[in-house]
Amino acid sequence: MKLSKSFWKTYKEKPADAEIPSHVLMSRAGLIAKSGAGIYNLLPFGLKVVKKVEDVVRKRLNEINSMEISMSVVTPGELWKESKRWEGFGSEMLKFEDKAGRDLCISPTNEEAVTDIFRKSISSYKELPVSLYQINTKFRDEIRPRFGVMRGREFIMKDAYTFHSDKDCLDNGYQEFYQAYENIFNDLGLEFRVVEADAGAMGGPGSQTHEFQVLAETGEDELVYSESYGANIETAVTKKVSSLGARELSGELNLIETPEQSTCEDVAKFLNINIEHTLKTLVFKAIIDGEETLVLSVLVGDDAINEIKLKNYLKADHLSLATDNDLIQNGLVKGFIGPVQIDGLRVVFDDQINKDSNYVIGGNKTGFHQENFSINKFYDQPELTSLRMSREGDLDSCGKPVKICRGIEVGHIFQLGDKYTKALETTVLDKNGKSAYPLMGCYGIGVSRIVGAAIEQSHDEKGIIWPKSMSPFDVHFIAITKSDEYLQKAEEIYLAIKESGIDVLFDDRKVGPGFKFKDADLLGVPTQLVLGERDFKNTQELSIVDRQSGTKTSVKIDNLIIKLKEHLKDI
Ligand code: ATP
Ligand code: MG
Repeated sequence: MKLSKSFWKTYKEKPADAEIPSHVLMSRAGLIAKSGAGIYNLLPFGLKVVKKVEDVVRKRLNEINSMEISMSVVTPGELWKESKRWEGFGSEMLKFEDKAGRDLCISPTNEEAVTDIFRKSISSYKELPVSLYQINTKFRDEIRPRFGVMRGREFIMKDAYTFHSDKDCLDNGYQEFYQAYENIFNDLGLEFRVVEADAGAMGGPGSQTHEFQVLAETGEDELVYSESYGANIETAVTKKVSSLGARELSGELNLIETPEQSTCEDVAKFLNINIEHTLKTLVFKAIIDGEETLVLSVLVGDDAINEIKLKNYLKADHLSLATDNDLIQNGLVKGFIGPVQIDGLRVVFDDQINKDSNYVIGGNKTGFHQENFSINKFYDQPELTSLRMSREGDLDSCGKPVKICRGIEVGHIFQLGDKYTKALETTVLDKNGKSAYPLMGCYGIGVSRIVGAAIEQSHDEKGIIWPKSMSPFDVHFIAITKSDEYLQKAEEIYLAIKESGIDVLFDDRKVGPGFKFKDADLLGVPTQLVLGERDFKNTQELSIVDRQSGTKTSVKIDNLIIKLKEHLKDI
């Protein structure tokens, strides 16, 4: 590709809404152009990178005999009504009507559509397993689109779906995808971690789900990990470490005046006790089986609630903090709530609370707390589960301390079980000739998000540094000459490189060297080749420049192609 004939423009300024390097650099390097909030056009070089990612994904999925299809981007509302997701999916689904008044939506995901394809063609267990994937456009009306293509409203996803006759078969299929995903992210040259993910209400007992997370400071997810453990913080369960022993009960529950103190921290300070000897009570409004219920959640004073764990434990469709009004209506006093004298309200305790220890809790009276509360003293059958947010230094189940880092979710695999086959009344005949619901797995990869994630992981102040597998070109060839004679020489070299099968971008523009180098560094092709007229005239040499390290290697024109190929093999 010759730059003089290319549609490519770079920019000095960063877009006003860009908060992170990948968004800045993809815009400045002319890979994307914003069309609207969370909607981006892919420009030629940006599209080339996306295609590279797609190639890797296709290769690895074809290897495990998944077959590529392309499902319609617009799907009929009818299908979503069958699964009850027409209402249940929430505001992220973009719905509209056609001129005949029929409901339609732009696919945010395709479980219903693929199940519909499946049920129309497969009728026997003998035809299972089935494995299908597509690489296609999705639309989700994200609450907060940001970070360019990383959290777009329109984005490219690879989504795969498998159908199985039993759990063993599903486990095998899942394992194959797990392995294929590891291969994909390794091929792409990304540093990633696989973590247990939140299964929400889906899947059923023993169902697995994992996320593939690219490690980056700017990632939106927090990962809890050790040598032997890895989980998204949304779902992580770890053991709290404390050097503090239990506090002895010293009598009956008694009110203590804490006039200005409503947080556990203030109360602990005021009473001169350790904050770990206080309990905090947070009140939530949950919708469980269509019914609204207030639930008190109780944690050790210095812990934070993990709302996702509480929501999953309650099997709630929706969970939100109770409003001041909710509290008043239930006789609760904001800032002074404790898990006693609460008139039949449901209470869930975090399982890291010591059941025998004496804790200070809210007094259920403005300006008061009370001490001498222990779970065992007041509850016969307490509801105990893991509710707290994991923290750095906690221990995993093997007793190893955990750390926390940030990640970008680039892939998610999930055992769905029979949720969709049941909802869409999709059965096959099993071995005994009986109707059975096949079990499903689904497997997503954020193809466009990967491009941003790779840049987050690999860039410097000058621009992008592509991993080899994702680079828009193999070599960025820069000719530094004003003379037509040497430009002609460079053109011959360009043609020879191209002829040898190397994908080369040739900067033959009539602009200054500084401009060319800046653009090359911004675009981030890992291997640059420079022909400087003066050096070439004297020595017949060009330089291979490594974008990352800046290392220059001189090569004679006579063995340029061989040396270039050697270099490309090594990076
Ligand atoms: P997130 O938690 O980041 O919103 P998700 O869990 O909703 O993602 P999935 O439904 O698991 O996403 O979709 C599969 C993959 O699609 C994700 O792992 C992610 O890489 C990608 N993806 C999801 N939402 C977006 C988006 N708004 N923009 C770009 N890629 C996305
Ligand atoms: Mg996900």
